[in-house]
Amino acid sequence: MKISVKAPAKINLSLDVLHKREDGFHEVEMIMTTVDLADRIDLLELKEDKILVEVSEGFVPNDSRNLAYQAADKLKQRYHIKKGVSIYISKNIPVAAGLAGGSSDAAATLRGLNDLWELGLSLDDLASIGTEIGSDVAFCVYGGTALATGRGEIIHSIASPPPCWVILAKPPIGVSTADVYRRLQVDKIQHCDTQKMIAAIERKDYKGICDNLHNVLEDVTFSLYPQVEHIKAQMKRFGADGVLMSGSGPTVFGLVEKESRVHRIYNGLRGFCKDVYAVRLISHPHS
Ligand code: ATP
Repeated sequence: MKISVKAPAKINLSLDVLHKREDGFHEVEMIMTTVDLADRIDLLELKEDKILVEVSEGFVPNDSRNLAYQAADKLKQRYHIKKGVSIYISKNIPVAAGLAGGSSDAAATLRGLNDLWELGLSLDDLASIGTEIGSDVAFCVYGGTALATGRGEIIHSIASPPPCWVILAKPPIGVSTADVYRRLQVDKIQHCDTQKMIAAIERKDYKGICDNLHNVLEDVTFSLYPQVEHIKAQMKRFGADGVLMSGSGPTVFGLVEKESRVHRIYNGLRGFCKDVYAVRLISHPHS
């Protein structure tokens, strides 16, 4: 038996860091939403008791370092599953980009194996297993739009923003999330107004959303990689309604309401950046 599952990318409409915790993690407040740039995960049941991973991108690990492998392994251990699985990951989401590609692959693997192995687990069960793999996995299990708190693993689903285009541009660098958090000076942060953003989303106030986009990690990543700030400025100049870096970067996204503007912004960015995507928000969460 074989099934395919979509693993969509996320963007952060806001990302705030409240303080550093005793356990070394940062306490965050993030609003995340899902976009229709997705990896595809093919799961094929194996009679032999083993996990095989194959990835379309050569530089993503195909062993136990792969987050999809870890997802399958956690399920096997916890539910004493003696069957195996072959996981093929067709990568479309750029890697180490701030788009939670690996986390989404893990979440899609959890959802897919829940069906393939007929485990009957709820999304809450899968999210709690996902949290052991990475902070963004729980959000990716649910999809849709959510406020994430704690270290990012406590998910409160919220209404979806009004439909719009999202242009993503990723400069050819990979950013280490750990490095960005290490360099962040928590006492100097200008905090987000998260409640204002939630209120704008709930009112379907597109302009209010654009006006409240805010990511406190931008300054750190911009100081390390000035080209990320340059892409943000260019995207704004080409006519995006609101522009922000996603996660710890380096991907920058722009929200665009008018379809007629999408081509101009896309083509303008393609002039100096290879990885540019024009996608839509996905408003519905996974069921
Ligand atoms: P986040 O936004 O959650 O910080 P990211 O988009 O910045 O994530 P990923 O694309 O998830 O970063 O990749 C980060 C690292 O995780 C990569 O360097 C890669 O080696 C490793 N990794 C493990 N599994 C995967 C996977 N299935 N897809 C991509 N990267 C993976």
